[in-house]
Order: sequence, then structure tokens, then C-alpha cells
Amino acid sequence: MIPVKGYAAQSATTNLAPWNFERRDVGAHDVQFDILFCGVCHSDLHQIKDDWFPGIFPMVPGHEMVGRVVKVGEHVTKFKVGDLAATGCLVDSCRTCENCKQGLENYCLNGNSQTYNGLEQDKITPTYGGYSSSIVVHEDFVLHVSENLDLPAVAPLLCAGITTYSPLRYWKVGKGHKLAVLGLGGLGHMAVKFGLAFGAEVTVLSTSPKKEIDAKRLGAHNFVVTSDPEQVKLVKGTFDFIIDTVSAAHDFNLYLSLLKTNGVHICVGVPSEPYEIPPFGIIDGRKSIVGSGIGGLPETQEMLDFCAANNIVSDIELINIQDIYKAYDRMVKGDVRYRFVIDMSTL
Ligand code: NAP
Ligand code: ZN
Ligand code: ZN
Repeated sequence: MIPVKGYAAQSATTNLAPWNFERRDVGAHDVQFDILFCGVCHSDLHQIKDDWFPGIFPMVPGHEMVGRVVKVGEHVTKFKVGDLAATGCLVDSCRTCENCKQGLENYCLNGNSQTYNGLEQDKITPTYGGYSSSIVVHEDFVLHVSENLDLPAVAPLLCAGITTYSPLRYWKVGKGHKLAVLGLGGLGHMAVKFGLAFGAEVTVLSTSPKKEIDAKRLGAHNFVVTSDPEQVKLVKGTFDFIIDTVSAAHDFNLYLSLLKTNGVHICVGVPSEPYEIPPFGIIDGRKSIVGSGIGGLPETQEMLDFCAANNIVSDIELINIQDIYKAYDRMVKGDVRYRFVIDMSTL
């Protein structure tokens, strides 16, 4: 076994603290990489607090990690020692179901292995995430990262990036479409970048008036403060798509009214409470509410390659791991600009 350092929550009511644990030895198809940077996703906070379901503790969060390969198994062909490597929200899946065969490991019908707060495919061994010094992953679940991009700013692409790229691609959002991005946080600011790169007209719908400058700097065409009825009135019935990245309960009635006839409201945010959907909000105007979860491995690599080709990275604040609760507090207040990334050398 390989000893590693990490930060773990021992239960849903205790704070993260240093915790030493072991990774498995590097198997024939495994890659071990030292984690240099790990993004902080709102899902980390949801999960250490048991917001969604009872978690597996101790829990080492973190599913946006990038680093350098330090060891490879004898049958590994995709990586060599010294290469950059990245892992996102998945470390394994059944590989045999209909979805896995199509590269939709995110929707594995037999239960995939989430990077933390999950179980390996033996359905017994817990998984531990990226708030740690090193990780061992089957090479099929390790991704290539360009040497040309700013490495800390690449980390958030592994979740915030693919979670917004995948639905925008699936629903073919692009030229001629008006896209609204609801919530300008980690996922939201990546949705703005991809929406623009795909040719859509992008509007940010935000609860934070102070974010207007940043939205415009990111290239958004329009910015609407959702608490201002006058501003909201101007965009009623105007959007083809809304990508909803909100992490807390919110008013679907209001947002559905901003869609055109046949408009699509794409949910990627995961509040702890069930959505409250007003029936006439979707019946009137044949509107759709759809969801999307992260992305499969081939599409995640496609997204990373797209980012390398188009010079897209996340806007980040680099933090020491000791400041993780300051970052969580700001994230809960919506004061994230626009992703915290942990410098893992501070572990
Ligand atoms: P984040 O950085 O905290 O951003 C969320 C943004 O939502 C905030 O910055 C804020 O933007 C807005 N917001 C927060 N509370 C709100 C409220 N009550 N009403 C309206 N807007 C509100 O979070 P994130 O990391 O982007 O994650 C967002 C959500 O997506 C989380 O629930 C996370 O668990 C989930 N997620 C889902 C997937 C998936 O596969 N589907 C993957 C990753 C994350 P403004 O200040 O602009 O209003
Ligand atoms: Zn995430
Ligand atoms: Zn499967």
C-alpha cells in the first residue's frame, strides 16, 4: 500500500482535518500521480455535510485534480512518468453496460465509482478524493492535460468544465441561440465561456449585482439581476435555453417564464431539496426541464482538448488547504470568483 496525506471529514458534523491513509499499490493498468492542484466544487460541501444522502466517512473530498505521473503499471500505454495527468468525478465503472460501452460512464447502469464518497467496483472499498497528496487510478479514468495551459486553472475543468460542456453539446447550443446562464459561480462561469465559444448569445442571470463587471469581462452579452423586476421583465420569453447551476432552492416559476415557447431549462445544480415545478410553467409554451450529470470519459477528454485548442481555463483563486473553510463560507454566500483551487503543496 502507498501512504498518502489528505484532508478528511470524519463525520457529517466534524470539520475537515489532516488525515493519513493508504492508496492501493499501482496495478498493471494503474497510473499513480501526485496531485498538484485540486478544485473546490460546491458538491464537496454538499457531500461532507450529507446534504444529499448519508455519506461514507471518513470522507476525503475533491474531484477536480491535476498533477504529474510518478509511477505506471506494466501494461499502461497512455501515460509515462513525468506526464501531466488529471482525474475528475469518476475513477471506475462497470465498462460492460450499454452506457459504458458508449463512453457514458457517468450514467453506468451498474453504478460507477465516484472519485470520493463512493465505492470501487468491488462495491466494498471506499474511494478517497483529491484533497490528498497522491492518487492511484486505472489509466482509462486518467485524462491528458495540455502543458500549454495554466495548470491550477485547468483543475476545475474536470468537473465544472465537463458538467457544463456536456449538456451544451448534447442540446447543440450554439449560433442563433439565446442562452441564459443561471448562477455565476464555478459551473456558471464555465457555461458562459463554453456558450460563447459555441457561438450562442449569452445572458447571465444572477442574484449578485456586483458580478456584472465580471460577467461582461467574461464576454457575456447581457446581465440580469434576478431580484430586479424591471430587468427581469425585459427578458421574459426570450431564451432558447437556460443552464441552471444554482446550488440552493430557487423559483422555477420565475425562470421558466423567461424561456421562449419550446425552450429548455437544463438543470445541473443540485439543491438539497426537491425541485418545485409549477405545472403551468412547463405546459404553457411546451417547455422542457431536463438534467445532466458530469460527462463520460471520451467527452471529458474532448472538452480538455477543446479547451487547449481555444485557450479556455477557469478563473481561479488559489488557496492554501488550511483556508478551505474560508473558501466554503464565501462559496455559500455566492462570493466565488469563480473557482477556488487548492495548492496541494500546502497540505
Ligand atoms: P457555486 O460556485 O457555489 O455557484 C453557484 C451559484 O449559484 C452562486 O455563485 C450563485 O450565483 C447562485 N446561487 C446560489 N444560491 C442561490 C439561490 N438561492 N438562488 C439563486 N442563485 C443562487 O457552485 P458550483 O460549484 O458551481 O455548483 C453549483 C451546483 O451544481 C451545486 O449544487 C453542485 O453540487 C452542482 N453540481 C452538479 C454537477 C452535475 O453533474 N450535475 C456537477 C458539479 C456540481 P449568483 O451570485 O450569480 O446568483
Ligand atoms: Zn463537482
Ligand atoms: Zn456501466
